[in-house]
Amino acid sequence: MTATTSNTTSVSLGVRDVHLAFGAHRVLRGAELDVARGATACVIGPSGSGKSTLLRTINRLIEPDSGDVLLDGRSVLRDDPDALRQRVGMVFQQFNLFPHMTVLRNITLALRKLRKLSEDEAVQLARAQLDLVGLAAKADSRPAHLSGGQQQRVAIARALALRPQVMLFDEATSALDPELVKGVLGVMADLAAGGMTMVVVTHEMGFAREVADTVAFMDRGVVLEAGEPAAIFESPEHPRLRRFLSQVL
Ligand code: ADP
Ligand code: MG
Repeated sequence: MTATTSNTTSVSLGVRDVHLAFGAHRVLRGAELDVARGATACVIGPSGSGKSTLLRTINRLIEPDSGDVLLDGRSVLRDDPDALRQRVGMVFQQFNLFPHMTVLRNITLALRKLRKLSEDEAVQLARAQLDLVGLAAKADSRPAHLSGGQQQRVAIARALALRPQVMLFDEATSALDPELVKGVLGVMADLAAGGMTMVVVTHEMGFAREVADTVAFMDRGVVLEAGEPAAIFESPEHPRLRRFLSQVL
């Protein structure tokens, strides 16, 4: 089973000195991240450190107060947000599927609206994308009739159908029963192996170790330390990272 699609070009991603405050609360305080074209960065760190907020600034669900987000070296902050969200797909912890629509319709809706495909084209593409995540047989089901793992694979298929150049995952497996985690991580690992540029916020240290090209540790609104998985997990430098790893490993 592979979740990859061939006709997209991945891009490099750069987050440059991004600051963001909610009122007096400075949630991002100069966040930096570099993801090479086709590479996967896993972002780890304690709850409340700004991981979700960082992801949201990348596809502009939130506008940073200052700093820049670059795709292939070009700022996205002046792009049309809808166009950007087609280029940068996002998958959330809580799936965010429309409960009153079939699985198929959940996918075709965005294709019709954002990619302006005809109904026939959208249905054909949605079915193909469902097939790639192993859910062709569920096209006509409602999300509530699927397991959490299946719902998350639909959410991934929905994002991929838009042919994104970058995929963002925000704790995509945190809401799943343990036995369903592996299937979703498998789809994500296939996507990474297929050359998608990805930023994956995760508590799955095994996934970070095996799949990531870079692991970035966030604490209090900054990336305190980033490097190859072996360096981060075997020889972490920052005491805060050492303490975090001793708690989660
Ligand atoms: P993480 O994903 O690492 O757990 P978040 O990015 O979700 O962290 O949140 C970082 C901090 O920003 C938290 O203290 C959170 O309460 C705060 N925060 C996040 N979103 C908002 C918001 N929309 N309004 C106010 N505070 C927020
Ligand atoms: Mg979060």
